[in-house]
Amino acid sequence: MLTERVSTFVWTLGSAMYNCKKCPGYCCSYPLIALNKRDVERLAKHFRLTFRQAKAKFTVERWGAKYSMRRKKDHIFGGVCRFFDTEKRCCTVYEARPSLCRSFPGGRCGYYDFLAFERRAQEDPEFIATTNNK
Ligand code: SF4
Ligand code: SF4
Repeated sequence: MLTERVSTFVWTLGSAMYNCKKCPGYCCSYPLIALNKRDVERLAKHFRLTFRQAKAKFTVERWGAKYSMRRKKDHIFGGVCRFFDTEKRCCTVYEARPSLCRSFPGGRCGYYDFLAFERRAQEDPEFIATTNNK
Protein backbone atom coordinates (compact mmCIF):
# COMPACT_ATOMS: atom_id res chain seq x y z
CA MET A 1 0.00 0.00 0.00
CA LEU A 2 1.35 3.36 -0.80
CA THR A 3 4.80 2.74 0.30
CA GLU A 4 5.96 6.23 0.80
CA ARG A 5 4.25 7.27 -2.43
CA VAL A 6 7.33 9.24 -2.52
CA SER A 7 9.84 6.59 -3.10
CA THR A 8 8.30 3.50 -4.57
CA PHE A 9 9.96 2.37 -7.71
CA VAL A 10 10.27 -1.20 -8.87
CA TRP A 11 12.76 -1.88 -11.56
CA THR A 12 12.92 -4.90 -13.77
CA LEU A 13 15.60 -5.12 -16.38
CA GLY A 14 15.99 -1.37 -16.08
CA SER A 15 12.29 -0.50 -16.61
CA ALA A 16 10.10 1.07 -13.95
CA MET A 17 7.04 -1.10 -13.31
CA TYR A 18 5.25 1.47 -11.22
CA ASN A 19 5.89 4.88 -9.78
CA CYS A 20 3.80 6.04 -6.84
CA LYS A 21 4.89 9.62 -7.42
CA LYS A 22 2.87 9.63 -10.61
CA CYS A 23 -0.20 7.96 -9.13
CA PRO A 24 -3.17 9.53 -7.30
CA GLY A 25 -2.98 6.84 -4.60
CA TYR A 26 -5.50 4.27 -5.67
CA CYS A 27 -4.32 1.64 -3.19
CA CYS A 28 -5.16 3.95 -0.27
CA SER A 29 -8.76 4.00 -1.47
CA TYR A 30 -9.39 0.29 -0.86
CA PRO A 31 -12.57 -0.01 1.23
CA LEU A 32 -10.88 -2.53 3.53
CA ILE A 33 -7.41 -1.80 4.81
CA ALA A 34 -6.94 -4.34 7.59
CA LEU A 35 -4.56 -3.58 10.44
CA ASN A 36 -3.18 -5.95 13.04
CA LYS A 37 -2.71 -5.23 16.73
CA ARG A 38 0.89 -4.17 16.20
CA ASP A 39 -0.21 -1.66 13.55
CA VAL A 40 -2.66 -0.06 15.98
CA GLU A 41 0.05 0.02 18.66
CA ARG A 42 2.42 1.76 16.24
CA LEU A 43 -0.19 4.39 15.40
CA ALA A 44 -0.96 4.85 19.09
CA LYS A 45 2.71 5.46 19.82
CA HIS A 46 3.04 7.81 16.87
CA PHE A 47 0.15 9.97 18.10
CA ARG A 48 0.90 9.46 21.80
CA LEU A 49 -2.42 7.79 22.43
CA THR A 50 -3.38 4.67 24.32
CA PHE A 51 -4.15 1.57 22.34
CA ARG A 52 -7.86 1.98 23.08
CA GLN A 53 -7.85 5.59 21.97
CA ALA A 54 -6.03 4.77 18.73
CA LYS A 55 -8.30 1.82 18.05
CA ALA A 56 -11.40 3.99 18.48
CA LYS A 57 -10.04 6.96 16.56
CA PHE A 58 -8.40 5.23 13.62
CA THR A 59 -10.13 1.90 13.13
CA VAL A 60 -13.52 0.32 12.76
CA GLU A 61 -14.65 -3.30 12.57
CA ARG A 62 -15.50 -4.07 8.98
CA TRP A 63 -16.17 -7.23 7.01
CA GLY A 64 -14.68 -9.52 9.62
CA ALA A 65 -11.58 -7.40 10.19
CA LYS A 66 -11.23 -6.32 13.81
CA TYR A 67 -9.17 -3.24 12.99
CA SER A 68 -10.02 -1.80 9.60
CA MET A 69 -8.73 1.67 8.78
CA ARG A 70 -11.29 4.43 9.06
CA ARG A 71 -11.94 6.30 5.84
CA LYS A 72 -12.95 9.74 4.61
CA LYS A 73 -14.30 11.24 1.41
CA ASP A 74 -12.07 11.72 -1.58
CA HIS A 75 -12.82 13.76 -4.70
CA ILE A 76 -11.11 11.25 -6.99
CA PHE A 77 -11.96 7.79 -5.68
CA GLY A 78 -14.99 8.53 -3.53
CA GLY A 79 -13.41 7.30 -0.31
CA VAL A 80 -9.89 6.90 0.99
CA CYS A 81 -7.87 6.11 4.13
CA ARG A 82 -8.30 8.71 6.87
CA PHE A 83 -4.54 9.33 6.83
CA PHE A 84 -4.34 10.15 3.16
CA ASP A 85 -3.65 13.74 2.16
CA THR A 86 -6.25 14.24 -0.56
CA GLU A 87 -4.56 17.30 -2.01
CA LYS A 88 -0.91 16.22 -1.99
CA ARG A 89 -1.97 12.61 -2.69
CA CYS A 90 0.32 11.00 -0.17
CA CYS A 91 0.39 9.26 3.20
CA THR A 92 0.57 11.51 6.25
CA VAL A 93 1.76 8.75 8.59
CA TYR A 94 4.47 7.20 6.50
CA GLU A 95 6.71 6.32 9.43
CA ALA A 96 3.80 4.75 11.30
CA ARG A 97 1.92 3.20 8.40
CA PRO A 98 0.49 -0.31 8.80
CA SER A 99 2.33 -3.44 7.71
CA LEU A 100 -0.05 -3.96 4.80
CA CYS A 101 0.91 -0.55 3.42
CA ARG A 102 4.60 -1.41 3.81
CA SER A 103 4.38 -4.55 1.75
CA PHE A 104 1.96 -3.42 -0.96
CA PRO A 105 1.93 -3.95 -3.90
CA GLY A 106 4.79 -6.42 -4.03
CA GLY A 107 6.24 -6.96 -7.46
CA ARG A 108 3.79 -5.14 -9.68
CA CYS A 109 0.89 -2.71 -9.37
CA GLY A 110 -2.20 -3.51 -11.43
CA TYR A 111 -3.61 -0.03 -11.02
CA TYR A 112 -0.40 1.56 -12.26
CA ASP A 113 -0.50 -0.67 -15.36
CA PHE A 114 -4.06 0.56 -15.96
CA LEU A 115 -3.10 4.17 -15.32
CA ALA A 116 -0.06 4.00 -17.61
CA PHE A 117 -2.13 2.37 -20.34
CA GLU A 118 -4.83 5.06 -20.15
CA ARG A 119 -2.27 7.87 -20.12
CA ARG A 120 -0.68 6.48 -23.25
CA ALA A 121 -4.07 5.91 -24.90
CA GLN A 122 -5.35 9.37 -24.00
CA GLU A 123 -1.99 10.98 -24.80
CA ASP A 124 -2.30 12.77 -21.49
CA PRO A 125 0.46 12.20 -18.92
CA GLU A 126 -1.73 13.71 -16.18
CA PHE A 127 -4.85 11.64 -16.89
CA ILE A 128 -6.33 9.99 -13.80
CA ALA A 129 -7.97 6.64 -14.33
CA THR A 130 -10.73 6.26 -11.76
CA THR A 131 -12.93 3.75 -10.12
CA ASN A 132 -15.28 4.75 -7.35
CA ASN A 133 -14.43 3.29 -3.97
CA LYS A 134 -17.06 4.98 -1.83
S1 SF4 B 1 -1.86 2.20 -6.62
FE1 SF4 B 1 0.19 1.38 -7.13
S2 SF4 B 1 1.30 3.05 -8.12
FE2 SF4 B 1 -0.48 3.90 -7.03
S3 SF4 B 1 0.32 4.54 -5.05
FE3 SF4 B 1 -0.50 2.46 -4.83
S4 SF4 B 1 1.24 1.09 -5.20
FE4 SF4 B 1 1.82 3.11 -5.95
S1 SF4 C 1 -1.79 4.52 6.18
FE1 SF4 C 1 -0.88 5.73 4.59
S2 SF4 C 1 -0.14 4.26 3.08
FE2 SF4 C 1 -1.59 3.19 4.39
S3 SF4 C 1 -3.58 3.35 3.35
FE3 SF4 C 1 -3.43 5.05 4.78
S4 SF4 C 1 -2.62 6.78 3.61
FE4 SF4 C 1 -2.22 4.89 2.47
